[in-house]
Amino acid sequence: MSLEDYRRKRDFSRTGEPRGGAQGRRGRGLAYVIQKHRASQLHYDFRLEHRGVMLSWAVPKGPSLDPAVKRLAMETEPHPLDYNQFEGVIPEGEYGGGTVMIWDRGVWAPVADNKLGDDADVDRQLAKGELKFVLLGKKLAGSWTLVRTRGGRQWLLIKHRDEHVSTDDVTVANPRSVVSGRTMAAIARVAGASERQLARAAGADPATTEARAAKAASRPAARARSRSPRRAAGS
Ligand code: MN
Repeated sequence: MSLEDYRRKRDFSRTGEPRGGAQGRRGRGLAYVIQKHRASQLHYDFRLEHRGVMLSWAVPKGPSLDPAVKRLAMETEPHPLDYNQFEGVIPEGEYGGGTVMIWDRGVWAPVADNKLGDDADVDRQLAKGELKFVLLGKKLAGSWTLVRTRGGRQWLLIKHRDEHVSTDDVTVANPRSVVSGRTMAAIARVAGASERQLARAAGADPATTEARAAKAASRPAARARSRSPRRAAGS
């Protein structure tokens, strides 16, 4: 669980991401964070503190609160703890170039035999390919599991049935940063991102009713259509 891969992939003279160094602090629970990241592809970086680093999985569609929905989670290199504070823009051409939002954060705890697990339980469950845990974040909470599917880096992130389940899409219903309250577009704008990165960041925000209305109103065909009587719902 070293930060070697993390550092090798980055040029810290060019990116504002932390190099990592601060060692794990104890006594406040284990850190949990999800960073929404519009790199070459949009994904949600799901990170859990373990033995002084953040274990990391890239979840392309983000978490689902529906126990029937299993979300692909690709294991990636462990990240430094101070990465949890990073919200901003990684320069174009750099590793992971694009906008990063702190989408959720809080604490997590491993679960073993329906009780609080320890580091050894986490090691054992990771090796076995089935990590059980509870989250206590601003957006996500309750019981979850990560299950490895093929012995490789591919896992599934699954919500367990409890009082926190929902069929609402939490990524759409609750899209803003839990730290700054900003959208992806606002984070990119504040960081002085390039036009291309700005457009990509904006495209990663769920279309709001206002944004859809503005877009529709700017299209002549849509304007023409909107003058004709609306069809009855369901037709
Ligand atoms: Mn990422």
